[in-house]
Amino acid sequence: MNTGVTRRLHGIAASPGVAVGTAYVIDRRKVNIHRRHIAAHEVDTEIGRLHSAVAVARQQLQQIRERIAPEASEHSVILDAHLLMLDDALLTDQTVDAIRNELVNAEWALRNTVEKIKELFDNVGDDYFRERRSDVDFVGERVLRQLMGTPTELPRPADLDGPVVLVAHELSPADTAALARSEVLAFVTDGGSSTSHTAIMARALSIPAILGVADATRLIATGDTLIVDGLRGTVTVSPSDADADAAGERGRRYMAFVRSLRSNRDEPTRTRDGVRITLRANIELPAEAPVAIDHGADGIGLYRTEFLYVDRREPPPEDEQYETYRRIVETMAPRTVTLRTFDIGGDKFSTAFRLPKEMNPALGLRAVRLALREREVFRAQLRAMLRAARHGSVRVMVPMISTVSELREARAELERAQHELTSAGIPWAPVPFGIMVETPSAVFMADVLARESAFFSIGTNDLIQYSLATDRGNEHVAHLARSLDPAILRALAAVSQSAAAAGIPCALCGAMAGELLALPLLVGLGVHELSVEPTAVPEIKSALARIDYREAVTLVGEVAMLSTAVEVESLVRARYEHVFSDLLANGEVGTFTETGTFVLPELLAPR
Ligand code: PEP
Ligand code: MG
Repeated sequence: MNTGVTRRLHGIAASPGVAVGTAYVIDRRKVNIHRRHIAAHEVDTEIGRLHSAVAVARQQLQQIRERIAPEASEHSVILDAHLLMLDDALLTDQTVDAIRNELVNAEWALRNTVEKIKELFDNVGDDYFRERRSDVDFVGERVLRQLMGTPTELPRPADLDGPVVLVAHELSPADTAALARSEVLAFVTDGGSSTSHTAIMARALSIPAILGVADATRLIATGDTLIVDGLRGTVTVSPSDADADAAGERGRRYMAFVRSLRSNRDEPTRTRDGVRITLRANIELPAEAPVAIDHGADGIGLYRTEFLYVDRREPPPEDEQYETYRRIVETMAPRTVTLRTFDIGGDKFSTAFRLPKEMNPALGLRAVRLALREREVFRAQLRAMLRAARHGSVRVMVPMISTVSELREARAELERAQHELTSAGIPWAPVPFGIMVETPSAVFMADVLARESAFFSIGTNDLIQYSLATDRGNEHVAHLARSLDPAILRALAAVSQSAAAAGIPCALCGAMAGELLALPLLVGLGVHELSVEPTAVPEIKSALARIDYREAVTLVGEVAMLSTAVEVESLVRARYEHVFSDLLANGEVGTFTETGTFVLPELLAPR
């Protein structure tokens, strides 16, 4: 029941759905640390306290790791990284040095060390890598709480009085992993981004999440009734009973809508007139592979392997990579898995490499350029991929190719990797070797590149950034970065035609593949292999089933006469808005039958 003043908070809609429930606020961040000078004879005692706190923290993390829920298994990798961080000289040795040299208590020394490590992460543009800064915090805080004797763990499910909406400053991977099995209706956090672990986790578990709600932990109290609207990115505190009822209804409607879309999971993806489209999934973590299958993906169109290189001081060993790739390939078999070699550099940061400080990182030592400088590391990755290829259907692609020479050099490394495996008597299987087309020069040279590649995959996130000269992470120029800009459509047409002329598949794995209004143009342009976020597969499959290929080809012809992004967007919207209306409205169009199933309006149902 509503008792307080209604107030609406805004944040990032990180996982869709609508939940109504009681808030449970976890505010464990307010640990006050006091600086205490210690006498020289106390140094050993303080260092001893630090080591015991680290040992207990390690034990706690190991226990969490053991009882991790299967659906949260990706967190074991993250927890392993946290365990490594605990053993890292950077954290403990620096703290010990501070205790010894500055004669301060262990808590103070540890807090300062954590702040210094975080500074190293500060100037990183990419959200995912910026998240690693929080990991240092989580590990540091766990040890700190141990030192201070304050509880570390979240309440166990049994301590909670029924399902709750968890409100926290930030949730660590250990927190979300421990919570996966408990009854959590939704997550709301002060910090975080749509690429944070909490977001990934919430999406995998289909729990609504709003992140980045400034001051949520201050403005919400345990016991408040909340509406968490993961479709609109809002949190309503103490809503009226009528609003709470309406939101509950929207939540049920959305779930029914998602279920109705997922009912297409075993059907092949086709246009309305029967043209087969291959619809794969983009993944960042191995645990997303089963999610991709569950949503009916035809395979993995992009595995961003650089995520294996974060949180570590050395690149991952070949055997470890092999096991990871093999796990994904076996899970997906007989479907194809597209492994992309690491795309590190630019705004994608990794502690595994010593990257130079660059004036223009996006134009600097990134992806294949870094791979060709760090050839041993590159070949170790290629060997792991070749070994994994024995276990299913694998293709390998190289990011950021900007010259034909780069492709040839990368291929030479692939061949060397094959020789190395053969000489060592290690079994491997050949792989189709393709490239990401995501630089303007690759578009201009697409006809030549197509003759030397097994397939293309267009990376529109970067292609838009480089073609329209709009930094992909800069909100001030975001209005210029439009996927339906005629310049981008011309680039796609050129690439698709070159691929067709050479008889190779042309895929697209940038975010454009998940944009409903871009789909008719992609279909019409002959881009018939698409790859999107795993949970977006049912929606995109449903949208494709409503597009007529011949109509789409005609539309491409009409659009070619237009000069601006706005003109293109208006024309496509005028033609397809009604076709996709339920999808554009996240299921707010459509009706329930008496038996509770959700049906689309006649007009929208795929034929
Ligand atoms: C792209 O650039 O479109 C792409 C898929 O790669 P990433 O987003 O990883 O750069
Ligand atoms: Mg890219």
